Amino acid sequence: MDYEKILPSYPLSANPQNSTIVERLKIAIQKSGRLHDDSMKLLKECGIEISNGVNKLKTEASNFPLEVYFLRDDDIPQYVEDGVADIGFVGENVVYEKNKKVEVVEQLGYGKCRLSIAVSRSEVYDGVSYLEGKRIATTYPVLVQKFMDEKGINAEIHEISGSVEIAPGIGLAHAICDFVSSGSTLFMNGLKEVETILSSQAVLIKNPNLSNDKQQLIDKLLFRIKAVKKSKNNKYILLNAPNDNLKEIISLLPGMKSPTVLPLAESGWSSVHSVLNENEFWDIIEKLTAAGAQGILVIPIEKMII
Ligand code: ATP
Ligand code: ZN
Repeated sequence: MDYEKILPSYPLSANPQNSTIVERLKIAIQKSGRLHDDSMKLLKECGIEISNGVNKLKTEASNFPLEVYFLRDDDIPQYVEDGVADIGFVGENVVYEKNKKVEVVEQLGYGKCRLSIAVSRSEVYDGVSYLEGKRIATTYPVLVQKFMDEKGINAEIHEISGSVEIAPGIGLAHAICDFVSSGSTLFMNGLKEVETILSSQAVLIKNPNLSNDKQQLIDKLLFRIKAVKKSKNNKYILLNAPNDNLKEIISLLPGMKSPTVLPLAESGWSSVHSVLNENEFWDIIEKLTAAGAQGILVIPIEKMII
């Protein structure tokens, strides 16, 4: 008999008296490509240890009831809809292009890119009406069609599977719709970006009909993901403040509740500890120095649970 199939390897050893079968959550991530490394890194930062199984289809975590399936990113929404995987990490672009019955649970903060329309640099582009009656080459026909419908433009959408950027140069299309990060690929192909139709990042998707046990595991994973994300957007800051300006300095630092203030050995000075958001970071640092803060230390935060 194939005991592997009927006996879960986790967590019986961790809980020998309990005979109930605890389910394992199945996650699909990209096998190789732009999302693979960051997806593995996120799981690791969530404290989940996974043996490197890139050459395998499937592997499992040693310290969390999780099975990891390595798939092409385009296939992930379908596998999650079918329940082969319960959840997946995949680009929003793929989720909306494939339009499967999956729920987007959380944005993951990596794999950021934009899907844009580009035309030849020599063209005079005076708005979306330029695209009326034109042929647009893309690997994302559904998203492009949706954009054209919203704008009330009739364009011929020509689906191709790769090297989209060469289509205008070889006379296959008047315009393209593709991913842009730095714009250098467009530039090298004599193109210019004229419209952004979607800003995308990696998201956590789930099958909408999961058991309570699986939902609990997702909640547990999500709790960790949120703590990791939060820590990336925040920095721990320590500084020395002259007591005369303490009030002003504290008012610049919100902290998680309020800043920690400790007396320094040198009288008339205090040490102030707080947490700063990345977005307002430089602004606040400038104001702190102007208010007399000294010896400012900024430290990355590994996890942040509020
Ligand atoms: P697969 O073999 O899994 O089908 P792929 O070639 O379709 O891989 P990648 O190029 O690895 O896909 O991109 C995967 C995802 O990474 C994209 O769908 C998108 O969400 C995201 N991404 C991030 N930056 C970029 C970029 N500069 N260009 C294209 N995609 C990007
Ligand atoms: Zn793909």
